Amino acid sequence: MRTLIVANWKMNTKLPDAEVLTNYIINHNEEYSNIDLVLCPPYLWIYKVSEMLNGKKNIFMGSQNLSHETDGASTGEISAEMLSGLVKYSIVGHSERRANFFENVGIINKKIRLALDNKIRPIICIGERQVTVKSKDILMDEIKELLSDVKGEEMHNVVLVYEPVWAISSNDGSKPADGAYVANVIATFRENLTKLFSREVANHTKILYGGSVDAENAEEFLSQPGVDGIMVGSASLKGKEFLKICEIANNK
Ligand code: PEP
Repeated sequence: MRTLIVANWKMNTKLPDAEVLTNYIINHNEEYSNIDLVLCPPYLWIYKVSEMLNGKKNIFMGSQNLSHETDGASTGEISAEMLSGLVKYSIVGHSERRANFFENVGIINKKIRLALDNKIRPIICIGERQVTVKSKDILMDEIKELLSDVKGEEMHNVVLVYEPVWAISSNDGSKPADGAYVANVIATFRENLTKLFSREVANHTKILYGGSVDAENAEEFLSQPGVDGIMVGSASLKGKEFLKICEIANNK
């Protein structure tokens, strides 16, 4: 399976910054041709960045979100149909959207369905706010609910990200998770997918880790069994550091 690196730029960059960052990534493209990259800039830059990528085989566009409605009276929203053809991936269920925009599992389910129906691969974020004895069971129940509308044969278009909220760099007191702990949770995700679908589906579903990944600790996560890639937030905005992460992933 090719390693997948997702760059979540969040609400950062002005257009010239986005262009500089994209150019930097494109200019070093040959150094990481063994991996796939997904760039998720703010909506407004998607068109420009995708023009700049100009069909590069291993770099894809992603959006940071999409609407749970199909069309109509949803001021300020962007539908899956509008994004279709422009992006290959979309992040859904990010913890910042759950916390700040009150997105619940019902809403995220609709987004997943709309993404798949519009040929967009959902990158589904799942992670606990804090570790408790029950947190793994809660995550597994959530996976079951989130995937309740998805068929086994659609799972090759789904990406799961284990993203513990306490590990996201912008949260107070955050710290990256421990590599072995991540591998353990991801192995449990796969056991759950085996129960929900089949062993084959579980083995072929891409499952990533996200939360305070940087050039220093990327190797720790990427070398864990079952970790198929990473989602990078703040470090994806620093060209040199992000490329170092890509290089580490490329040499995995
Ligand atoms: C994120 O919020 O998706 C993320 C991965 O952020 P960071 O790498 O900054 O922790």
